[in-house]
Amino acid sequence: MTRTPLIAGNWKMNKTHLEAQALVEDLNDALTDHDFDAVDVAVLPPFVDIRTVQTVLDAAKSSIGLGAQDISQHESGAYTGEVSAAMLKALNVTFAAIGHSERRQYHGEDEAITNAKVKAALGAGITPILCVGEPLEERRAGKHVEYTLAQLEGGLSGLSAAEAKQVVVAYEPVWAIGTGEVATPEDAQEVCGAIRDTLASLFDTDTAQAVRVLYGGSVKSSNVADIMAKDDIDGALVGGASLKADEFAALAGNAA
Ligand code: PEP
Repeated sequence: MTRTPLIAGNWKMNKTHLEAQALVEDLNDALTDHDFDAVDVAVLPPFVDIRTVQTVLDAAKSSIGLGAQDISQHESGAYTGEVSAAMLKALNVTFAAIGHSERRQYHGEDEAITNAKVKAALGAGITPILCVGEPLEERRAGKHVEYTLAQLEGGLSGLSAAEAKQVVVAYEPVWAIGTGEVATPEDAQEVCGAIRDTLASLFDTDTAQAVRVLYGGSVKSSNVADIMAKDDIDGALVGGASLKADEFAALAGNAA
């Protein structure tokens, strides 16, 4: 089974819509057909930038995919401040990050919420990027694998194998996000391999082989190739290094 790698840039709460326009134009110019032949590349701008970025991508007939950093678990109605799957779908959004550690930490998102959001995304034909990963204490206690797998099982609860196949999983150890401290390729592989084994036991081997498992946490153009050389790592969810077009394009190029 060959899985097309995915390099997804999570812009977090950075870039006004004008800055977003410049960044995605520069990124589109910097990426080559060779990159797109080998890897899928997507950007996840803040909600208010999505329409602008979509317009740029459409006009350029770009192969860059568009994602959101979050999605509401509710269909519509009295949920002030939330953005629904249908609204995102109407803007050609094809990915949604779900359960990013910053959502879990600052917005109290637990497994019930991530599971509902995964289902809301799938219901609209949007690919969930389910983020899982342990805080430093769990790693120090040697509980990183079980902690991460519990988040995985909770987030995928109640899905059929056909639905699970459409999910992307991002393993992001919290201690490596935005800290400059990257997990070693061996550390990342240990957990990504355990994620794939768990997908096989929760669903089946076919599903486990189809799902893309990304690593995230201080990935840069200089370390992405070593990380992706590991068997069970199919790309990267990238924060800081996705905010500069040259660096992100170099990262995608090295992944390719
Ligand atoms: C992230 O936000 O998902 C992330 C991995 O950030 P960074 O690459 O900056 O560590």
